[in-house]
Amino acid sequence: MNVPGSLERGYQRFREGRYSRERALYESLAQGQSPRLAVLACADSRVDPAMIFDAAPGELFVLRNVANLVPDYEADGGFHGTSAGLEYAVRHLEVDDVVVMGHAACGGVGACIHHFTDGSAAGPFIDPWVGLADDAFRKVRARAPDLAGDALQHEVELESIRASLRRLRAFPFVADAIAERRLRLHGAWFSIASGAMLWLDDVSGDFHAVTTRSLANGVPAA
Ligand SMILES: [Zn+2]
Repeated sequence: MNVPGSLERGYQRFREGRYSRERALYESLAQGQSPRLAVLACADSRVDPAMIFDAAPGELFVLRNVANLVPDYEADGGFHGTSAGLEYAVRHLEVDDVVVMGHAACGGVGACIHHFTDGSAAGPFIDPWVGLADDAFRKVRARAPDLAGDALQHEVELESIRASLRRLRAFPFVADAIAERRLRLHGAWFSIASGAMLWLDDVSGDFHAVTTRSLANGVPAA
């Protein structure tokens, strides 16, 4: 047996710490899960939704892929892992909310941008996948042709979240759940450097920081 040392040590800390403290919760969750929220996040090691939202076991149904992209609805019998997860969350778990959470310095979004700007290829699986952000890139380019570097990356990250939400709304079971007011969709973006979270305003289409009253010191502001 050759278990990676950091995983062995981390698991030991988990068993002696969180698992031991929350044993009753884990035992009750063994009967089944009923999370009310689903989060689609990037596979990036820095943006773990359960950590960022300080979620308890059983609280979040988490899907992760490269660049937190929702693919097109394609009922073609292919291997659509993200679509299967979304279907499970919406149709079987009947979550109330789905959050598409992007993040700063996303390598997947960066790969999409590089493909356009210098023609570089990331690989036969990555390139077509991050191509789901192509329209977002074109839209940002059309709106702000001079944008470059981090500013361009940031705008494409946000635009790609909007595009993923549009594709998600086109899934028939999502459209039905929204029409029946059983489901709400949200866009969010996380800054790794500052810890800031921006949320998409459905009305304006802009992303805004949501004030967290007790962010600084745990004391609610007046
Ligand atoms: Zn990413």
